[in-house]
Amino acid sequence: MYVKLILPALTEARSEYFRSIKYSLFPPLGLVTLASYVPDSWNVSITDEHVETLDTSDTPDIVGIEVYITAARRSYEIADAYRKKGCHVVLGGLHVTALPKEAMAHADTIITGPAEEAWPRFLSDFKNGVAAPHYRSATRTLEDLPPLRRELIKRSLYLVPNSLVTSRGCPHRCDFCYSTSFFKGGRSYYSRRVDQVLAEIEGIPGRHLFFLDDNILGDERFALALFEGMRGMNRACQGAATLKSLTNAPLLDAAARAGMRSLFIGFESLNRASLEQTNKHHNDPRGYNQIVRAVHDRGIMINGSFVFGLEHDRHDVFDATVDWAIRSGLETATFHILTPYPGTPLFHRMEKNGRLLHRNWDLYDTRHAVTRHPHMSQAEIEAGYWRAYRHFYSAPNIVRSSASHSSLSHMLRHMLYTIAWKKCDPIWQAIIQARKLPIMHSLLERVLGSARRSQ
Ligand code: SF4
Repeated sequence: MYVKLILPALTEARSEYFRSIKYSLFPPLGLVTLASYVPDSWNVSITDEHVETLDTSDTPDIVGIEVYITAARRSYEIADAYRKKGCHVVLGGLHVTALPKEAMAHADTIITGPAEEAWPRFLSDFKNGVAAPHYRSATRTLEDLPPLRRELIKRSLYLVPNSLVTSRGCPHRCDFCYSTSFFKGGRSYYSRRVDQVLAEIEGIPGRHLFFLDDNILGDERFALALFEGMRGMNRACQGAATLKSLTNAPLLDAAARAGMRSLFIGFESLNRASLEQTNKHHNDPRGYNQIVRAVHDRGIMINGSFVFGLEHDRHDVFDATVDWAIRSGLETATFHILTPYPGTPLFHRMEKNGRLLHRNWDLYDTRHAVTRHPHMSQAEIEAGYWRAYRHFYSAPNIVRSSASHSSLSHMLRHMLYTIAWKKCDPIWQAIIQARKLPIMHSLLERVLGSARRSQ
């Protein structure tokens, strides 16, 4: 029996927006997890179209495809090609969960929601010749997760091969977030056992770790136990957290002691009314400065996430947001245009109010305005989005932002990290083409590991 698992390329990865380093960051950990459930006596392979060429001349028994919204067209193309040859095609992932009927037209089986119980059940049914057209996990738990088959990760193709997850979902319900709809109808947030995670970390080579959890601090008790267990492991880690969780000073201390060196934080907006409307009550802009200081003081860098095109945004939102991010010394920032992903409460609201401009999923990439805004035109929002990126990452603003830190080492680390991420694409391209990304692992570890608490 041969199972082939595929992550099809996002449309933007085959467009002018392509940046080789951006699409060579993380291995497809979800598919590695699925591969870990495949019986040892079967063959299994993983192909990530962002970093390697997909060969469709083979005839696997099962083809499993993970579908994201802007890869839906490509995913269906691949699925149709394999089905024509008689392979059993299974589609799963966020987009399949959001639009099961659309996906069903291209699959023999779909899996909606998290797959940790549904996928092994499908494999067993397939073996017995009774595979069903639709599976959904009846129980949601990470207790029985098999050891991850990390040997299937092609480490030389990624800058961050040491990624891992400790939980699924998020305790919050922001109305634009996929997490809100993907986990609907069951537990929406659950974690692994701390001892299992620590055992996995022990087996991961090198110093660097990237926690891919939506919110690594979501369950404070779990996070505290994990970080305490990681003390002395000499790791340098990165992850994502909500602002609310960062108000817990002892937890933040424990994260820093465990080696946390950067956090992706969803600020989303400086406008309280917009945040309220998206059900992001846990963000209060009045506390942003204090939280940024607390994180920076512990030597942790920040990748701030911001959304443009929220209900109360006006034309000045772009410059005001970027100015604040620079003044606050955020090391990197990610900007998005509000995008109603199918299945989310935001999508239903926009659809009900006749504000969706189209359903061309290729453009639901957070770079395009796909809804009607009450105060700004589509062109105005898109121009503001691109202007925000240009301003934030302009050379004078990188210097200005770095200069906001009190220690010289933090200033230098900020500059080095930001320049490497945003200003060195030709160098990255050459490194990736030469298959030399592994030499950058230790450099990344050194930059992240250089952090010192400034107070
Ligand atoms: S806090 Fe973040 S991960 Fe959680 S629901 Fe909101 S946007 Fe999604």
